[in-house]
Amino acid sequence: MTTSGFDVRPTAHPTDTAIRDEILGNSGFGRYFSDHMAHIRWTADDGWHGHEVRPYGPLTLDPAAAVLHYAQEIFEGIKAYRHADGSVWTFRPEKNAARFRASARRLALPELGDDDFIGSLKALVAQDNAWVPTPASAAEETSLYLRPFMIASEKFLGVRPSKEVDYYVIASPAAAYFKGGVKPVSIWLSSNYKRAAPGGTGYAKCGGNYAASLAAQKEAEAHGCDQVAFLDAVENKWVEELGGMNLFFVYRDGRIVTPKLTGTILEGVTRDSIMQLARDEGLTPEERHISIDEWRDGAASGEISEVFACGTAAVVTPIGELVGEEERIRLAADNGGEIGKRLRTKLLDLQYGRCEDTHGWLTRLA
Ligand SMILES: *Cc1c(COP(=O)(O)O)cnc(C)c1O
Repeated sequence: MTTSGFDVRPTAHPTDTAIRDEILGNSGFGRYFSDHMAHIRWTADDGWHGHEVRPYGPLTLDPAAAVLHYAQEIFEGIKAYRHADGSVWTFRPEKNAARFRASARRLALPELGDDDFIGSLKALVAQDNAWVPTPASAAEETSLYLRPFMIASEKFLGVRPSKEVDYYVIASPAAAYFKGGVKPVSIWLSSNYKRAAPGGTGYAKCGGNYAASLAAQKEAEAHGCDQVAFLDAVENKWVEELGGMNLFFVYRDGRIVTPKLTGTILEGVTRDSIMQLARDEGLTPEERHISIDEWRDGAASGEISEVFACGTAAVVTPIGELVGEEERIRLAADNGGEIGKRLRTKLLDLQYGRCEDTHGWLTRLA
């Protein structure tokens, strides 16, 4: 049996329907995984080959596999949404495919074509269609979160790009990222840590960036904050992004500003989509540098009326408070956050097929 060029090897032990339904009814985020995974192998000699969908399960890796020592790894995050008619769709996958190639180039990994990237999502979702939750209402933001990733699997401790690489896609049913509805989050402004530096890997979606952000995240939690915001590494002045989400600043006059991409910020698909939707709503999106002083002063004067973070997993999340070593800046977001809310609803309506896909952003998976 094959699906878009993928050999399908079904599991002999599919999850019991009752258990699967229980999981889909209370999935949280990233805790449970579907029955299968997609896999494509790459070797320097043979290129990409061995496309398959196989049972989900532990990988066998040699202890000397390069990824375990030198972190030659990249990943993506994208969701599958079930529409009211039962069909399953994903959102702008060619953007993720292109970003995955940009990440691959930076980490000296082989590039995967659009056909293989999107084909792997289709093959896995075709097999695990029953794992895509059916939202009972618009308030139930359930989806199947897809996690493509690529690892250097060659058994070799010398430092050079691996000659053997494996690409996988795993799938995890996801409930709304924040239980009990969207609540404003508090942000810790890290002064001890930087996420990315010019010439580094900031624009690549690689595990190393996340590993480097965890100490800052711990610091944030120690100060009672939910997430951490990073400033630029050179001047310690320009706001960049959170550990895994991009930032937007809404001004009273309708401008909506997001930090400009300079190589140290991850180019979010949500970020790009929000800019377009803002334009559609008659707002004026701007990509430019924004300093921490502008955030402080704008929040104090009320010129900045909302700040929100965005990304695939949590969609749009209002920021209620910015906390630093010697400061605590409250933002208007916790008593409204109207613009962010409107853009969030618009984006979700599009993704779930509840409004017309005027930008041609949806791709059918199953
Ligand atoms: C994935 C990611 C984002 C959000 O990107 P989306 O494509 O919108 O999901 C933002 N920042 C970082 C560091 C990320 O890894």
